[in-house]
Amino acid sequence: MNHALSPGLYIVATPIGNLGDITLRAIEVLKNVSAVACEDTRITGRLLHHLGIKQRLIRYDDHADANARDGLLAMMAGEAVALVSDAGTPLVSDPGYRLVRAARELGIAVTSLPGPSAAIVGITLSGLPSDRFLFAGFLPPKEKARADVLGELAGVPATLVFYETAPRLTDALATIAATLPGREVAVARELTKLFEECRSGSPEELIAHYTEHPPRGEIVLMVGPAPVVEASMQDAETLLRAELTHAKPSHAAAAVAKATGLDRKALYALALTLK
Ligand code: SAM
Repeated sequence: MNHALSPGLYIVATPIGNLGDITLRAIEVLKNVSAVACEDTRITGRLLHHLGIKQRLIRYDDHADANARDGLLAMMAGEAVALVSDAGTPLVSDPGYRLVRAARELGIAVTSLPGPSAAIVGITLSGLPSDRFLFAGFLPPKEKARADVLGELAGVPATLVFYETAPRLTDALATIAATLPGREVAVARELTKLFEECRSGSPEELIAHYTEHPPRGEIVLMVGPAPVVEASMQDAETLLRAELTHAKPSHAAAAVAKATGLDRKALYALALTLK
């Protein structure tokens, strides 16, 4: 059945390993667009063949010359065009940002069909705190640049999520051990595939494991947030004294409880003795 699609850009997420992870809507859109822009026509050709879809494929990456992008934008103004990457969600460490930006500037309709992304699959499997996470793409391959990036992110109160390659995993873990000591790390490998695994521990434990069993395949590397250091009552007393110079005991206790995680009632009792 042919469903007419309105003109515009359709960002379509595709499987990251298991070909069953394609949505019904993705199939419908890939069938009915006028063309599919993709990173590699052979890889997308194989996916479409598996889905029984014949489509016009146009190679696109964000570094393509402006003419190639303009050609696609002109087509989108009057027809529906899909954008896919080799695997997962386009624009997530993959091409598409410049195309989406240009389309939006030109008033072309842009819509995004959600689906797999390795970063999300990794964080859900890792057992690391998932209420806050920061996706930071690939770590730089060179040691100094990698240490600088990790140093910048050291204070972020969230799980850090990186994409990594198998040959660089142990080097990345060594830099994490040196720059972010004491953190729990998780390595999620070959997600949605036959040999999927998610292993967690200290960077040192993971280095020992992967030195003995060199990893293969694709990897999401995650670093848990810095452990919360419990403030002592002595620290709290110093903070309370400072607060009490301008606040009444109940407000001083509330402020210090928020800053330290200590019990507000105990802090209030202490504040009354200090006043
Ligand atoms: N756009 C994709 C996404 O949404 O997941 C990511 C593209 S990025 C160029 C490729 C990187 O994603 C790989 O080097 C790896 O770090 C990660 N990745 C992709 N598929 C994966 C999988 N099945 N298991 C683990 N990591 C994967």
